[in-house]
Amino acid sequence: MSSNQPSTYLFEKNGCSALDNFIDRETLFAFDLDGTLVPIVSDPGAIGIPDPVRKEIAVLNEQAFVAVITGRSRLDALRHLAFAPSFLIGNHGAEGLPGWESRTQEFVCTVKEWQNQLAVLLTDDYQRRVVIENKGATLSLHYRHAGNIKEAHALILDAVRQLVPQPRRISGKCIENLIPEGAPDKGFALALLMLQTGSPNAFFTGDDETDEDVFRLQNKNIFTVRVGRSKGSRAQYHLRGQREIVRLLHEINRILAHFKK
Ligand SMILES: [Mg+2]
Repeated sequence: MSSNQPSTYLFEKNGCSALDNFIDRETLFAFDLDGTLVPIVSDPGAIGIPDPVRKEIAVLNEQAFVAVITGRSRLDALRHLAFAPSFLIGNHGAEGLPGWESRTQEFVCTVKEWQNQLAVLLTDDYQRRVVIENKGATLSLHYRHAGNIKEAHALILDAVRQLVPQPRRISGKCIENLIPEGAPDKGFALALLMLQTGSPNAFFTGDDETDEDVFRLQNKNIFTVRVGRSKGSRAQYHLRGQREIVRLLHEINRILAHFKK
């Protein structure tokens, strides 16, 4: 598929047969968490994997390498996972990659530095209204409840511009994610896991901007599915919504069942 083509709805045309042709015994299956395996809810602490999804992913987890690659810290994600994947990668790729432990510690130090600097750069008033979430290897600034959203965002961006060292910044809905320079992103993380597991191909599904780091790889050995259609996305296929994840997992398990025969 050419990089500029819009994604195809997975459950129409030839999506399922493409999936069928792609998957084999050695495929590594990787998933984002929020908005992908679990529905987005207003309280991020209250997410949970729906029962039908949990059942399907447990089946998949028994017969293939499964990786969860999330923006949450590993500790936070662990609280919500009802299964133990082969790999749990946190902080958008910056935490949990085998062989990257000492670099991750460097990222943790950088994030602590940023937190100290933000305590000076943001006024007391804004420190009360903006949630500064130190996730270990990355930092998130949430400004959903900051009152004047536009003004808060401008002030946050101004403070971020003054941070030393400068972070890589990924914007989300009322959130700015700050990532240390040189930290692995989700695309790097998945490519490294493929190498480490000896998987010649991988399947990945995710729903937001940080998942585009995988979609942008445009690697013909990675089958990419975005949850929800997005015009600018580089994913090959999309689902219409998170509800369809269970159908997707069921389809994957159905295809893998053929290899058992
Ligand atoms: Mg997500």
